[in-house]
Amino acid sequence: MKYVLITGGVVSGLGKGVTASSIGVGLQACGLRVTSIKIDPYLNTDAGTMSPFEHGEVFVLDDGGEVDLDLGNYERFLDVTLTKDNNVTTGKIYQSVLDKERKGDYLGKTVQVVPHITDAIKDRIEAVALIPVDGKEGPADVCVIELGGTVGDIESMPFIEALRQLSFSVGKDNFCLIHVSLIPVLGVVGEQKTKPTQHSVRELRALGLTPHLLACRSAQPLLDNTKMKLSQFCHVEAANILNIHDVPNIWHIPLLLRNQNAHRSILKQLNLLSIATPPDLE
Ligand code: ADP
Repeated sequence: MKYVLITGGVVSGLGKGVTASSIGVGLQACGLRVTSIKIDPYLNTDAGTMSPFEHGEVFVLDDGGEVDLDLGNYERFLDVTLTKDNNVTTGKIYQSVLDKERKGDYLGKTVQVVPHITDAIKDRIEAVALIPVDGKEGPADVCVIELGGTVGDIESMPFIEALRQLSFSVGKDNFCLIHVSLIPVLGVVGEQKTKPTQHSVRELRALGLTPHLLACRSAQPLLDNTKMKLSQFCHVEAANILNIHDVPNIWHIPLLLRNQNAHRSILKQLNLLSIATPPDLE
């Protein structure tokens, strides 16, 4: 199984969900089977009890799972049918660990966030990634994982640590990290500012994860100079700096990414170029 992890920096609501779905579409266009997992680091077991004014409408899956609207995006973009297990929350993870603790499964050990919660996260991700969601038999080729929230949030730390361990155990050819970040423009100066992105990449690296691609959200297309600065200061190849500027309609985003050859960069990172057929190489 190959994993593409989408993290976010600077602010929430940047478009991680739409980016994750659009990346999935691009990989499907290369002939790969794609599944997805949404991680929500809140303590609610699922979105069923959460106010729609805060989180948008609850999305109800075919199996009755009440989940974040992002899973609706995945289903529509990728033409898959997800299960409630495709939405991993802190609540679900803690509940499973606490149930095991009460049963005595830990054999008297002190149950801790590291390693017990982080192991439960890793095990769950690896198990859910194998569930076929496109009506075909057998697991998909690639699992796109979206980590909700913003890097540096206290509540997402166990997930970051578990994903760091996962990236190490699956090996570099099987793991691609795309960090979605914001490039603001200061009104008076009128310059695209890269510093918030530099800081959030630094934060990610301090936690042991190195982004292979940056997806930069901006109001206007990124200038070449901005891309060069990002590449130099964030240690990401210039070809892997993607730009997701504001568009009138989110269905433009898969095309925006295709035009920047995002699929090619991801296939290269995942060592899939010899197997998958990027449309631009046909
Ligand atoms: P996150 O997962 O980071 O919280 P979402 O993917 O849910 O963000 O996107 C937040 C909102 O921004 C959604 O309403 C989405 O339609 C919108 N959005 C995302 N990307 C763009 C874009 N490039 N242009 C315009 N709207 C966007």
